[in-house]
Amino acid sequence: MILGMKVRKHDVMEMLKFNPKILEFHFSDSDINLELDSNFDQQLIVHCYEYFDRKIVDLVALAETNQIHSKETSIQLVQKAIDKTVELGKHFQGKPTIIVHPGGYSLEELSSENIQKMKNMLIDSVKQLDISEVNFLLENMPPYGWFYGGRWNSNIFLESNDLIKYCNEMNLNVCFDLCHSQLYCNKVNLSLVDELNKIKNFTSHYHLSDAEGPEEEGLQFGEGTLPFDKVIPILNELKDRSFAIEVWKGHEHGGKGFKYFLDKLIDHGMIVN
Ligand SMILES: [Zn+2]
Repeated sequence: MILGMKVRKHDVMEMLKFNPKILEFHFSDSDINLELDSNFDQQLIVHCYEYFDRKIVDLVALAETNQIHSKETSIQLVQKAIDKTVELGKHFQGKPTIIVHPGGYSLEELSSENIQKMKNMLIDSVKQLDISEVNFLLENMPPYGWFYGGRWNSNIFLESNDLIKYCNEMNLNVCFDLCHSQLYCNKVNLSLVDELNKIKNFTSHYHLSDAEGPEEEGLQFGEGTLPFDKVIPILNELKDRSFAIEVWKGHEHGGKGFKYFLDKLIDHGMIVN
């Protein structure tokens, strides 16, 4: 697989030492003003912000609250990130990519009717975005998310069947986060390997970290239950797809956590180019 590195403006130069072919900028809302003063040999991925002005961006929000932007505002905010991606993409090779979390959050458990309402809104929201100048990738969600120091439910874009339906209808690919999927599989007793095989023809980019139970994400290699020995041979077939490691605090100390994870992947047979 093709190596991508998660970066922020302040550590991008340092992360070049890993020789990535892709730089994945993890945006916060202040990056809407990001300016770059050099050009890069890599391709660009922007990971869209999840908060804007301290409120959650949610493309399928059922209503605006003091913690969640309305669906309409969220669409505008994602469009701003897309436009910024196009602008920054001029410093990079090829067509830039943006990764967006679809939303679908709630503090309380939702009724199945409301979950269905959210699912039905997703395609309509994406259709309102101008994605003509980017590769637009929605990312699959974990069953729980952490916002404002509390545990929220993620109600959509969890299961490969839902992702495939979206991909077919939109003729778009996704970013598949193996950790998020493992958390969901742990919750509902599915097989990650089955999920991975089902979605692999629709996936351009992967996020990798270990996972434990239904909610511990971003773990270091081997700290969770993700079956890397079964996953790596499947990923090795996908030579032209890319991945980035998302281990918690992996960027600290010059990317020490990233390096540990990457070395472990290679030790376990991952072919990285
Ligand atoms: Zn991810």
